[in-house]
Amino acid sequence: MKIIDAHLHFCAEPYFDEIAKAAGHENTDRHLHEQYVQRGIVHGVVMGNRTLAPEEHCYPEYLSYCIGLDSTCFDEKQLQRQVELVELHLQRSSCVGIKLYPGYNHFYLYEEKMKPFYELAEKYSKPVAVHTGLTATSQALLKYSHPLVLDETAVCYPNVQFVMCHLGNPFLSDAIAVLEKNRNVAADLSGLLEGKIPDMQAFFRKKQGYIRMLRDWLEYLDAYERIMFGTDWPLANLGDYIDFMKQLIPEEHWEEVFFANANRIYGLKL
Ligand SMILES: [Zn+2]
Repeated sequence: MKIIDAHLHFCAEPYFDEIAKAAGHENTDRHLHEQYVQRGIVHGVVMGNRTLAPEEHCYPEYLSYCIGLDSTCFDEKQLQRQVELVELHLQRSSCVGIKLYPGYNHFYLYEEKMKPFYELAEKYSKPVAVHTGLTATSQALLKYSHPLVLDETAVCYPNVQFVMCHLGNPFLSDAIAVLEKNRNVAADLSGLLEGKIPDMQAFFRKKQGYIRMLRDWLEYLDAYERIMFGTDWPLANLGDYIDFMKQLIPEEHWEEVFFANANRIYGLKL
């Protein structure tokens, strides 16, 4: 089965090196590529971090990217300049969307100041991926990353394709309601595992309630054409992640969820 990893990070810095190690991996281009080849992952979509400088966003052939406005580079005082830089990225074929990090950044998605980014997304027909749900740092605020904030944004910008990253985990029922109501919202299932799981059978036994809940909500939604596989590399072990996803997604939807949806939504032309 051909797979697209619709959500990863490609960032050489100590924090990412450390979480890669905990996942049984190495945070290098070479190791990532080897792992992708070994597991049938033919392409990945990087969620950009750290800088908006175009020269800093050059990736190997097997990766595309969303230009990301994370808390280290989003600057409200220079919004006009930032919008201009984001537009330069969107003009590249390797840049397949915008990534926003509310929660880490203290704004509501639907605030007026964010409008120029949505207008750009519409102009270039590229999606806006949004971090939703739990955050990795305690300074972040969940009121901004709660999946419900995507509802108003999706209504205000009906011609923009949004991607709810991490399915708003653990605010699952709210996330599913937003997805059910708004057809211009898709979701990726990244970030639900971290590290290397030593014994997958034991893990599935221990987490059976949570896995059941995820599977039931996805089945309730029944919109597998808007659900994408993503690993949040280097956060989790890739082999574990594929096994975990196969537990959540009925086999008749694997082709869509593991490949076709990301190919279509991010316009990858694979
Ligand atoms: Zn991520």
